[in-house]
Amino acid sequence: MSENQRVRVRFAPSPTGPLHIGGVRTALYNYLFAKQQGGDLILRIEDTDSQRFVPGAEDYIIDALNWLGIHFDEGVGVGGTHAPYRQSERKAIYRRYVDQLVSEGHAYLAFDTAEELAEKRASIANFQYDATTRMGLNNSLTLDASAVQEMLENGTPYVVRFLVEPEQTIVVNDLIRGAVSFNSSILDDKVLFKSADQLPTYHMANIVDDHLMAISHVIRGEEWLPSAPLHVMLYKALGWEDSMPAFAHLPLLLKPDGNGKLSKRDGDRLGFPVFPCDWIDPKTGEKSSGYRESGYYPEAVVNFLALLGWNPGNDQEILSMDELIELFSLDRCSKSGARFDYEKGKWFNHQYLQQRSGDSLTTDFNPILESKGVDTNRESLLPDFTGQIVSVSPAYVSLALEKVKMRATFVNDLWEQASFYFERPGSYQEKTVQKYWKPETAGMLQAYCQQLEAAPVFTPEPLEAMTNAWIADNGYKSGLLYNAVRLALVGEAKGPHLFDIAELLGKEETLYRIKRAIDVLH
Ligand code: GLU
Repeated sequence: MSENQRVRVRFAPSPTGPLHIGGVRTALYNYLFAKQQGGDLILRIEDTDSQRFVPGAEDYIIDALNWLGIHFDEGVGVGGTHAPYRQSERKAIYRRYVDQLVSEGHAYLAFDTAEELAEKRASIANFQYDATTRMGLNNSLTLDASAVQEMLENGTPYVVRFLVEPEQTIVVNDLIRGAVSFNSSILDDKVLFKSADQLPTYHMANIVDDHLMAISHVIRGEEWLPSAPLHVMLYKALGWEDSMPAFAHLPLLLKPDGNGKLSKRDGDRLGFPVFPCDWIDPKTGEKSSGYRESGYYPEAVVNFLALLGWNPGNDQEILSMDELIELFSLDRCSKSGARFDYEKGKWFNHQYLQQRSGDSLTTDFNPILESKGVDTNRESLLPDFTGQIVSVSPAYVSLALEKVKMRATFVNDLWEQASFYFERPGSYQEKTVQKYWKPETAGMLQAYCQQLEAAPVFTPEPLEAMTNAWIADNGYKSGLLYNAVRLALVGEAKGPHLFDIAELLGKEETLYRIKRAIDVLH
């Protein structure tokens, strides 16, 4: 990359299926880098491999990144001066550069059939198409020009292969890994173009587009590092060495346990999503679950992924997108793989849920209440449990959720934590009854109801003061009363502070529930 060049990065997925969470991280790091540097992020769809094309994958990628707040300045779905951004629509562009490579002797035509190559593979150990084998194969280096011409006229299928000079040291300057050297002898003469579909392969299209789209930095997963020496050679062969982008190969995402790369199977085995959104395989109908539908907040997923392979240089863990943009740097990306700690992902969601106000949680929780048959249009703050259906106000929902949110990781957990605010206990948890409902409980609660009935205000502090004084005057153990009242209001031994519950339910409902527990449990 030359000085003063505008920062332009790209996310260049191949639409071969749902975007893996590792791909999401790559997109995110590109986004953070572009925004921080005041540059551009481009979405390029690398769909030259028609065999692996999966319908719906492109829309999925766009939808998922949009959900996460990763926005593009140019590209598929956005447009821009370098359009089209879908490689299948750029066929004509690549051909010219393929021809240039061939005419300048950097590439050649190879006519070997699949059967011939299979035969070589069977007879030569570790066969690859390279300097040691190419002169014994069917290509424009071994056939004479007239034979090549004839084959072309006959429409004999061929591929164009890059001619790799052996025994060269190819250095990839990586912003994360430093200078990484490769010996060119280990590389094969990669196919750059196939006459059969008139399409370039990934390598060719990728380099041509990075050049034409003036990409300054290639930030991508570590799995592409082995392709980087070929890419460097291609830039040189095409005469573009001076505008070669800088490379940054991000660390792998590792399995939560054991060795190796995080896979979909790890998610299935350990019960967590490896895709941003739900995906239904168009061929098999098999569904893979996503973070979005599992109840994650996009901010939590972004924060979690940002810290998988990068750190801000201090121990701050909760970082908004804006903070990430400000702090991100490729220098602090790690070289070694980042272990995918799924529990940490949940922790982030829990943290973000705590930041939500009761009002905002109410919006997300309303569909759940609706599914439980609760009406949420009541005007009065006091809930109504007496009608055919329970009726509450939005403000009541908000207050109830505020009280229980610290025990929830996902919005879906809120029902489990807050259900007693929206329905009377249907039964009383057996083990809690055995533990806390004593022979003297019913009598004590009868008397306590009279106290509650007479209470002039029904707010936590006066209620608690009154209750404690009454307990002391009557010689009850406070645990006996508190646990029994909680059991009556909630149905089990959980929930927020007792008088917070009572206040929100209101005097009438609180008394109703205590009396009902007396009736049922005696
Ligand atoms: N199309 C490649 C992919 O699917 C892009 C690799 C790159 O960024 O160069 O990830």
